[in-house]
Order: sequence, then C-alpha cells, then structure tokens
Amino acid sequence: MWFRKDKAPRAPRDPKTTSSLGEGLFVKCDGCREALYVKEVERNLRVCPKCGFHFRMPAVERLKLLLGEGGGQPLFTGVRPADPLKFKDSKRYRDRLKDSETKTGRPDAILAAKGLIDDMPAIVAILDYAFMGGSMGSVVGEVLTRAAEQALVERTPLVIVSASGGARMQEGILSLMQMGKVSAALARLGAARVPYVAILTDPTTGGVTASFAMLGDVTLAEPKALIGFAGPRVIEQTIRQTLPEGFQRSEFLQEHGFVDLIVPRAEMRATVANVLRLLQVG
Ligand SMILES: [Zn+2]
Repeated sequence: MWFRKDKAPRAPRDPKTTSSLGEGLFVKCDGCREALYVKEVERNLRVCPKCGFHFRMPAVERLKLLLGEGGGQPLFTGVRPADPLKFKDSKRYRDRLKDSETKTGRPDAILAAKGLIDDMPAIVAILDYAFMGGSMGSVVGEVLTRAAEQALVERTPLVIVSASGGARMQEGILSLMQMGKVSAALARLGAARVPYVAILTDPTTGGVTASFAMLGDVTLAEPKALIGFAGPRVIEQTIRQTLPEGFQRSEFLQEHGFVDLIVPRAEMRATVANVLRLLQVG
C-alpha cells in the first residue's frame, strides 16, 4: 500500500444529505452522535430527545404543526411548473420535476394554506426541501406572491417558512426574477401594515435568503439552522479570511441582529400565535 488513512475522512457537511431522518429504523443524531430510534424522533416533532437537535421536517408536518391536524384550507394548488428553457444537465428538468412530484406528491416545492394558528387567522406558505432542495422557481415565486396578495386583500397576516437551497438554476433568469417579484408583493403588504412573520429553518440559503426570508417584520429561526447566502467555502475564498465558529447558524445570526428569536419546534405554534397577537391588524 502506498499510503494509508488513519481515520476515515469526515464528509463535508452538505445541507443536501444531512439532517434528514432517512429510511432506516435508526438514525445517528447529527448533534450528539447517539443512535436514535426513528419512530421516537418522529413522535418528538423530529427533534432529538437526547440533545434537542432539530432534524428537517417535511412540509406537510410543518403545516400541521402550525395550523393543526386539518392543515387549514389549501391555497393556489393549481399553479404548476413549466420548462420554458427546455433545460437539461445530467438529467432533463422535466424529468427532475416528474421525479420530485412522485416523491413528494406535489407539483413544486411549496404549499400554502389558510387557517388558524391557535386562534389567530393566518395565510401560511411553506417551502418543501424534499422537492428539488426547496429551490425557488416560478411556481414558488408565484405562490408566495399570490399568498402575499391575498394576505393584503383580506388583511390577514402572512407566515412564510423557508427551507431552501436558493434559486432554481434550471429556470435561469425566470427563477431569479422571483426574488424581486415576491419582495415587491411583501413591500405592498408592509405598506398596508399587514404583518409578515418569517420562519427560517435548516437550510435557508441563496436567493431565498437574499429576498423574502430576510424581509419579515419579525424573523424567527429554529435552533442551529443553517442560514446564509453563499456557502462558507466560497466566502473564505473570496475574502481570504477564516470564518468564525458557528458562522451562518441561527444563534450567530441572532447575535448579529438578523434573527429576532430562536424558537424550538415544540414552541413554534404558540410563539407565532403570540407574535401575531402582538402585531394584531387593525
Ligand atoms: Zn442528539
């Protein structure tokens, strides 16, 4: 043997592959490295019972977490993706869409509904990380824009839960323009003094961070969520400096004023309801 490795190299933390519970009976916790029984973690809102590490939560479960078992009244379910660029990399975009629809049971990376968070009416939109990394294409942008527009007409607060790798490159500029479109709709909502609560979950990155995720009147985040624009390696190469420990995690962002409150999942519904009560629309 020419060389040997003493330790197996640790895979770089990739938001695409860690933090999900996976298919097996047991999962190793990213927080405490304990082997956990998957069913037990699921029953505990996908939070590690030993150390409180938050695994990713599927969009439907999150909807129920906020709006109760019924999940509210679904909105904008007819918005479907197109493939105007006929984009193809290692796979055709059209096929990626089909595969993700089969996997998640929805046409794109978002769901929206209207309902009550405890006793507070709200329009809720949730990005689905399981659908192409929660990437923001035309459908995500359109549903968020319609959600903001309906919130404005009905003077009902808007809640957006982010979980996204950023813009959807398969839609090129049509994806990037959603940043401006959604931000403009949120600006109109803000001008009419209808509250928008942003909830940031692991991971909230790229064009999503650079637009609506950071525009909340109140910004809540789950513990230790990755929140950032570019990845740490790109930043280190650009500024030629080593980044501080915990950079781009909820706690660091709160210390630096980008996040108002870090909320454990079990307290999320009550906290959002409280915030909405405090911001009550006249
Ligand atoms: Zn743990």
